[in-house]
Amino acid sequence: MMPTIGILGGGQLARMMALAGYPLGFQFVFFDPDETACAGQVGTLITADYNNELAIEDFCQRVDVVTLDFENVPVETLRRIANKKPVFPSPDILAIAQDRLLEKEFCQSIGVPTAPYITINSLTELKFAAKKFNYSAVLKTRRMGYDGKGQYVIKQEADINQIPDSVFQHELILERLVEFNREVSVIVVRNEAGDLKTWPLCENKHKEGILTTTMVPAKADSLDKLTFEYAQKMAEQLNYIGVMVVEFFQTDSKVMVNEFAPRVHNSGHWTIEGANTSQFENHLRAGLGLTLGDTGMIGMAAMLNWISAFPDDIHAISDIGVHWHIYGKQPRQGRKIGHTTLTAADPQQLHDKILQLVNRLGVRL
Ligand code: AMP
Repeated sequence: MMPTIGILGGGQLARMMALAGYPLGFQFVFFDPDETACAGQVGTLITADYNNELAIEDFCQRVDVVTLDFENVPVETLRRIANKKPVFPSPDILAIAQDRLLEKEFCQSIGVPTAPYITINSLTELKFAAKKFNYSAVLKTRRMGYDGKGQYVIKQEADINQIPDSVFQHELILERLVEFNREVSVIVVRNEAGDLKTWPLCENKHKEGILTTTMVPAKADSLDKLTFEYAQKMAEQLNYIGVMVVEFFQTDSKVMVNEFAPRVHNSGHWTIEGANTSQFENHLRAGLGLTLGDTGMIGMAAMLNWISAFPDDIHAISDIGVHWHIYGKQPRQGRKIGHTTLTAADPQQLHDKILQLVNRLGVRL
């Protein structure tokens, strides 16, 4: 019998995991509080709150192994499931990834640098800490933040006054703003036997905290070797199973972890068409104890996110080898609703294809 994989969270990542798993004969059941969760269009969706014990029990009975597409699933829910079914990644890893302070403390404990930070519990503490960072800092909630949500950039003393009082009801962390040359991510996959593979380095661009483009492979830099070493060390020290993605800042002489995702990641979407094995397939392979697929790529790839809305006439453009991924989500401001991947043999060809695409769609990157 082929296994049924349960996925907590029914967004586009769950959907793409299923689309990668069906050719291998796997079945999928998704669990999401939102009845319109887009993975429900490609498999069975159980709709209930994450703390609904009966629904979790039902989910466990229908699946052989469980993973997640969303890191803010309550750790307690994952622990409850882990008593009944194998879960990857483990609840302890999820607990670290959910809390920016625990995440940074973990990195520091294994000698992996992060942006300098100070924990904040009040406006007074913030004023003191922001001054210490010369008013070049970003205030973040320790938990429940993603895509730049719950973040306030402080570039002058007056910026502190713009922060709503309600923010101080949360546990907070202030990070020094890193003057990075570029942001990169390393996609790592590791299985129970300890086999570990990485894909080529991804270079990522963000607007207002949301990923807009990923280019692969990133132009070679002398810091890349260290960047890969840090990501591998993190996966090994966590005894990680599945795909995890580590986001880094690279400056002239330093590399620092921004954060890690305990799951497949937007900066790895290009692997569907651009690599011999996608992040989605290898995540499932790792979790099921199968041999990992080859992570090599041929040529280059670019991934462009569609956020809030699609340009008109998207399906009209196919002649330059465009791969469209439309997630079946209702468009909403700031919401990721699809992406496009372009592949090419060399940098010039990729550059030409991107230009053609954006010109014909009439969009700006
Ligand atoms: P995050 O949600 O923490 O990944 O932040 C979203 C984006 O905000 C990052 O990808 C960066 O572009 C930017 N950002 C976050 N933290 C910092 C920082 N300490 N220094 C500079 N830029 C940052």
